[in-house]
Amino acid sequence: MQQDGANSTNFGRIVILPTAFAGSPRHMNQLYQDSMALVRKFRKPDLFITMTCNPNWLEILHELRLGEEANDRPDLTSRVFNMKLNALLKNLLQNGVLGTTVVDIHVVEWQKRGLSHGHILIILRSQDKPSDNNDYDRIVCAELPDKSTHSELYNIVTSRMLHGPCGALHPSCPCMVNGACSKGYPKTFQPQTEDSTDSYPTYRRRDDGRTFTHPT
Ligand SMILES: [Zn+2]
Repeated sequence: MQQDGANSTNFGRIVILPTAFAGSPRHMNQLYQDSMALVRKFRKPDLFITMTCNPNWLEILHELRLGEEANDRPDLTSRVFNMKLNALLKNLLQNGVLGTTVVDIHVVEWQKRGLSHGHILIILRSQDKPSDNNDYDRIVCAELPDKSTHSELYNIVTSRMLHGPCGALHPSCPCMVNGACSKGYPKTFQPQTEDSTDSYPTYRRRDDGRTFTHPT
């Protein structure tokens, strides 16, 4: 039986955090409403860019103490991520590497294992909006870089950005459903970027002889 004074609702008082308090429900709701207002005025975004913290970035590895892993240092990984995100945003927004930006909306989230992850939505001015397949190829590349002329990029792409290994030799890969890759890999070669019916273009993947064998 409950004692007098032991009811938790009798203690403290309810405080509603204002929109000026970063992270409060009202603050998040205001950001959402602002984003929807921007899309209403400037129409749908042109670019959706994601960026994920890499626990093997040298700036992180150099600061770990003996026996520590990146997972142990969210203070460190989030600071390094924030600096690199700012560098990316500077290239996108100030230097306009993909065109002049009219609207930028971005948010940083945390993955389940604690690494920062950024989502960036960008609306470009009308003359910079990608409108045909050549514009897509200027922004998106689904091919392996040239190992001899872009060796650093080749190493980054092959170590970080390739799907798999999956297929018959790796049936326990999470993407495998009923004996086939549910993501459709390996993709077929494609001489030109083409529009498809589901609004996702089929990106150019020329049969240029470049290959990569995953170390098993
Ligand atoms: Zn797969």
